Amino acid sequence: MREMTSRRSIFAFFLGVWAPALSAQNPTVDAAVDRFVDQIIELRHQIHENPELGNREFLTAALVAEHLRGLGFDEVTVDVAYTGVVGILIGGLPGDTVAVRADMDALPVTEDTPYSFASTVRTDYLGQEVGVMHACGHDVHTAVQLGVASVLASMRDEIPGVVKFIFQPAEEGPPPGEEGGAELMVREGVLDGPRPSAIFGLHTFAEMAVGTLGYTPGPALAAVDHFRVRILGQQSHGAYPHLGIDPIVMASQVVMALQTIRSRNLPPLEPSVVTVGILQGGTRFNIIPGEVRMEGTVRTYNPDVRDAIERRMGEILAGITSAGGGSFELEYDRGTPATINDVDLTAQMVPTLAKIVGADHVEILDPTMGGEDFAYFANEVPGFFFRLGMVKQGVASGGHHTPTFQADDSSVPVGMRAMSNLLLDYLESRRPVL
Ligand SMILES: [Zn+2]
Ligand SMILES: [Zn+2]
Repeated sequence: MREMTSRRSIFAFFLGVWAPALSAQNPTVDAAVDRFVDQIIELRHQIHENPELGNREFLTAALVAEHLRGLGFDEVTVDVAYTGVVGILIGGLPGDTVAVRADMDALPVTEDTPYSFASTVRTDYLGQEVGVMHACGHDVHTAVQLGVASVLASMRDEIPGVVKFIFQPAEEGPPPGEEGGAELMVREGVLDGPRPSAIFGLHTFAEMAVGTLGYTPGPALAAVDHFRVRILGQQSHGAYPHLGIDPIVMASQVVMALQTIRSRNLPPLEPSVVTVGILQGGTRFNIIPGEVRMEGTVRTYNPDVRDAIERRMGEILAGITSAGGGSFELEYDRGTPATINDVDLTAQMVPTLAKIVGADHVEILDPTMGGEDFAYFANEVPGFFFRLGMVKQGVASGGHHTPTFQADDSSVPVGMRAMSNLLLDYLESRRPVL
């Protein structure tokens, strides 16, 4: 996700209710973070140096499972939804179940960072030789969650309840023709036996400094759809267009007309994006091709807007290709739904974030048009997904999914403290009255 997001400090919002008592740190957690952080950063380097694409996280999953087993987890299940790992840690005191999720997959991006642990891995991706890189920070997410596992395992006697650790493959989407990610994990029953009453997740954010945390109450990340279009004409000599039907001219009109859905067919205050990311056609300068291929993404929050865009795309394609004498095929796949932070859970947990970094370092972020398949979990049980600042002072990180993306190691202990405290404070709030 490369996102331009505006933010406001929660300072003004919570000044009135943020009592000094909440600023008390949990000394047991802090001591445990200090004890484990070097080892966890070392694991982060290993994961970063050995990135793996979605549904192929074999080394990462093995590292995760070994770590959890080494901590004496009560259950460690592997091969969930291809390469997912699920660990159960049963606390020493009775209580509720809470889940926490990290994603493990990397991207087909060629790394260009000064890191000593930069990836040099290359692979074949859809017929092209490419580099592989943790260009979205999922190495940090996985490492932080391994760190939280270490912290909580070290104090398990004091934990009132059960923590389910979900390490997820393929957040960026499975390879073509495969299923995967959070949707498949949910379908395989990852939220059953025991079922958590809430789930937490975090994501690094390339526009936020280390030591800052961010969140969005309610709708946070958009629904992600994927469309493929074929515009069919009739091939002819480039000098004799009247003898053919030109799909390049039709496709050009379609690209422009699709942008009028947002500007002319939808209420201006409804968020939406229609992006054509691939436009391909032709083999030679003097041949009008028989076909043009287009592919792109639609981002929305409101299901009615989603329906309207799909319908208008069909109408625009039908109108333009019929006027041009051609035809079309449209394949519209509805992907990840919008990620909605549970409003009550968010309100309950924000003081914990403030406790970790100070209220003036917690930012309310506007919703983004980026997507996150955490939505599949948050649609099942109340979810809270927040952002971890990751940019070291004086360093310019590239955006998410770019070769110069740089999540600093110093974000790891902040993430460990934030997530450990969220899980503990949540379970504490659910502690049964005996
Ligand atoms: Zn990403
Ligand atoms: Zn990501």
